[in-house]
Amino acid sequence: MSSPRRFYYDLHIHSCLSPCADPDMTPCNIAGMAFLKGLDVIAVTDHNSCLNCAAAMEAGARYGILVLPGMELCTQENIHVICLFETLTAALLCSAKVRSLLPPVPNRPDIFGSQVIMDSRDTVKGHEEIFLLGAADLRFDRVAQLIKSFGGAAFPAHLDRQAFGALGVLGVFPPDAGYSALEVSSSCDRNLFFSKHAELQRYRVLYNSDAHRLGEISERENTFALPELSPRAVLEYLTPAGLDSARVSMQERSDPLQIQEEQGR
Ligand SMILES: [Zn+2]
Ligand SMILES: [Zn+2]
Repeated sequence: MSSPRRFYYDLHIHSCLSPCADPDMTPCNIAGMAFLKGLDVIAVTDHNSCLNCAAAMEAGARYGILVLPGMELCTQENIHVICLFETLTAALLCSAKVRSLLPPVPNRPDIFGSQVIMDSRDTVKGHEEIFLLGAADLRFDRVAQLIKSFGGAAFPAHLDRQAFGALGVLGVFPPDAGYSALEVSSSCDRNLFFSKHAELQRYRVLYNSDAHRLGEISERENTFALPELSPRAVLEYLTPAGLDSARVSMQERSDPLQIQEEQGR
């Protein structure tokens, strides 16, 4: 095996599918900005949906940037968890599952913002009609196992924030919830945070941007060491105990864009 190299990452970025994100967060613009900033690997993680991942992955490939498909899942306790996948097929299947767990409330674009689905050339393909900022009917301590069953990895988002962070919501971080990694905001005082929460030092810690605007995407500042630059290597880094060997069969579905077409309806 080749010796590990360090790669610049930002694994928490919202596209224009998230109603709270800037309309400029198109797949091409995100990939282009990540390229300008000198990042090696990013993840597009819209609220409760992976429907712009195909476009972002294709746009990223044109810039030579690895884009992992992902989403920021909101649990029934209103905790945000970043979920990443090895393949687009797995991401879209899981996205459909999460969509079925959301309250069937239509989005109000005039109040909350649009939820735009694009192709990799930034052409509008449609809009997600269910409001994506709802809480899925899924407990925080069930998310890691669910994502693992789709061959992916999950980590709690912005743990240092009161709103939608596991610590702020639960008061303590449950050690038996199945997570190996966690995210702390880029702006967090890391020394202070981990001196107050020494029990969290055993986790893999990620510093992502949670960008909702292009300028917020991370600079070339955070790295991890991987044996190679691939989705699998990133997921294995996040799950040192190993990915689930009994991964879901993906129901023999081999055409991710077909799945996306069905979900986009
Ligand atoms: Zn969040
Ligand atoms: Zn976010």
